[in-house]
Amino acid sequence: MRKLVKILTLASFTLLAVPFATQAQEASKAQSPAFMVHKLTNFLYAIGEPNYYQKNYSYLLVGTDQALMFDSGANQKEDITLLVRKITDKPLSMLPSHLHFDHLGGLHNFKNIYLVDTPFTRQFREKDGFYRVPESVHLGSIDHMVVPPFKVARLIQPDEIIDLGGLKVRLISVPGHTQDEVALYDETHNILLAGDHLYPSWLLAGNVKDYVASLGATLKVINEQTTIYGAHGTEDPTKVPAMTYADVQAIRDKMVLIQTGRAKGEAFSDPGLIKSSELYKVEKDISILTNIQFNDGRGYGY
Ligand SMILES: [Zn+2]
Repeated sequence: MRKLVKILTLASFTLLAVPFATQAQEASKAQSPAFMVHKLTNFLYAIGEPNYYQKNYSYLLVGTDQALMFDSGANQKEDITLLVRKITDKPLSMLPSHLHFDHLGGLHNFKNIYLVDTPFTRQFREKDGFYRVPESVHLGSIDHMVVPPFKVARLIQPDEIIDLGGLKVRLISVPGHTQDEVALYDETHNILLAGDHLYPSWLLAGNVKDYVASLGATLKVINEQTTIYGAHGTEDPTKVPAMTYADVQAIRDKMVLIQTGRAKGEAFSDPGLIKSSELYKVEKDISILTNIQFNDGRGYGY
């Protein structure tokens, strides 16, 4: 979940009317009003939601045997799999980067759902085999959204490799934004799909200590040539949110300063959602929000 200030987001979107039109023409022809497809390689597609205030980006990996969506989009009304079916007819599965509502909008459209297997995710499995994620975890009330119960076709262990046929990705557990946050690393092509662990905008820290550890672990997996894609867009919602190794280092360095009380933050609140929080600027458009208290009285974090 990454909730940027609605007012700022809407204002910036208006200014972006022209680039939107230009880039829309360049994107793949498989479009719908809610989604915009970007073909990144012959096996990787980014599916953005430029009209949604959180500018979510989900990713489609296409192997020779199987296709895998990393996140299901935020939109509950439009069926994202119809778009996927214009790109590939391979057996399709979906793995959420974590269990926040904005990554589970299209969940009900997938028959084959994968999930990271940790003590945290295991607690949501009930006797009938369905996973029921409580609102306190998925936070769907923010968008008046309910996450339906779902069955898991395959549990993935941290560090397990998912083989899609000629294309392998390793699941990396990266807690910090949430306890269940995961990323996917394709070692052959040196691509990291980072979910909400890393994106070039406002990062929400649910647990700074975990985040520092996960950033350190990520930096050991990736290198200066790694292509990194995140799950939320930038000021330009039609641009695939990519990052560099140096960005990740800068985020890690700032997160360490926050953890050790050496960073200077500023108070941030948003009348629509956030009662109070601390905002730390990292570089360019990247910032970190900590100690978030929502207007409904709940604190964000674990
Ligand atoms: Zn999110």
